[in-house]
Amino acid sequence: MNQPTRNSIDDLPIRTELRGKSPYGAPQLDVPVRLNTNENPYPLPEPLVARIAERVREAAYDLNRYPDRDAVELRTRLAEYLSKTGRYPVSRENVWAANGSNEVIQQLLQAFGGPGRTALGFEPSYSMHSLIARGTGTAWISGPRTPEFTLDPEAAARAIAEHRPDVVFVTTPNNPTGNAVPAETVLALYEAAQAAKPSMVVVDEAYIEFSHGDSLLPLLQGRPHLVVSRTMSKAFGAAGLRLGYLAADPAVVDAVQLVRLPYHLSAVTQATALAALEHTDTLLGYVDQLKAERDRLVTELRAAGYEVTESDANFVQFGRFEDAHAVWEAFLERGVLVRDNGVPGRLRVSTGTPHENDAFLDAARALMKDQGV
Ligand SMILES: *Cc1c(COP(=O)(O)O)cnc(C)c1O
Repeated sequence: MNQPTRNSIDDLPIRTELRGKSPYGAPQLDVPVRLNTNENPYPLPEPLVARIAERVREAAYDLNRYPDRDAVELRTRLAEYLSKTGRYPVSRENVWAANGSNEVIQQLLQAFGGPGRTALGFEPSYSMHSLIARGTGTAWISGPRTPEFTLDPEAAARAIAEHRPDVVFVTTPNNPTGNAVPAETVLALYEAAQAAKPSMVVVDEAYIEFSHGDSLLPLLQGRPHLVVSRTMSKAFGAAGLRLGYLAADPAVVDAVQLVRLPYHLSAVTQATALAALEHTDTLLGYVDQLKAERDRLVTELRAAGYEVTESDANFVQFGRFEDAHAVWEAFLERGVLVRDNGVPGRLRVSTGTPHENDAFLDAARALMKDQGV
């Protein structure tokens, strides 16, 4: 019998810019303490699980029909959540939802980027911005950060003036570094982007619920080219749900509807997200606990002799290492999975349960003592 052949990607007539590239993904290893993907460590509470089952059951009777294409009820509830927590009133017309904020970002780049256009982000930052740019044929420009991983408003504005990108990404709090970008800096970048092109400015607030500061939602007032993107993957503890959303001028919502796949958000997803939003208070109750634990990680890592970047997220960047990957492996040998994002000399740890954080801190202290890392 003939053996089935196994071609490699490069045997396919694939787009040139995808040749030799690897897919996004953190190692999913089976170790006792997994602190590498910024998830919420707490499973959903029982009453919410019951409510999800109930709403999905109701939705199941209608699965012979396509879902609400415009997710009207869900967008209304998301607008209520934003208005309640963001110090700025938004309505359904300002809000759009998709399968994770990654899809929101993809739709934005399909609408505002694309072949012959460029997107700029300040790196190190969330690598999916550049990967989705590549996937949508948008050229990527890496903007500058200071050695402390902050944004220098003047250097950042100069990069925008020089490259005149069509889309600018500002991640705040930033992943993987953890630090937030002040509102004045975002305003300066918006002004620079409008003077240069004008271009769209996407503020990725995936971690905003964990911040010591406030959401930049109020900046939407009078700024039709500003977009704030959010997700239920982090603070809501619902990474498995795949629900991201944006708030912007209603014209931006009209624009992404030109590129979204029809019925992109399944009826099951919409029902599940609606159930989760009924339990917003319970879910966000974990956030205060996680913030306190995040602050404890910062303090204890510093006390142990590590250099730690200020964090407004549910993770902490620490170092400084000669060989970050060797230290990543040393943590793994002690049963603790952290993340090597490729930032020279640094690693990132997600905030877990107090027990997981203790295990991580024990390993961190032991490594410092053994090896003086
Ligand atoms: C985790 C993360 C997201 C979330 O992506 P989802 O597709 O919503 O799960 C978005 N932006 C940043 C910066 C992130 O770290």
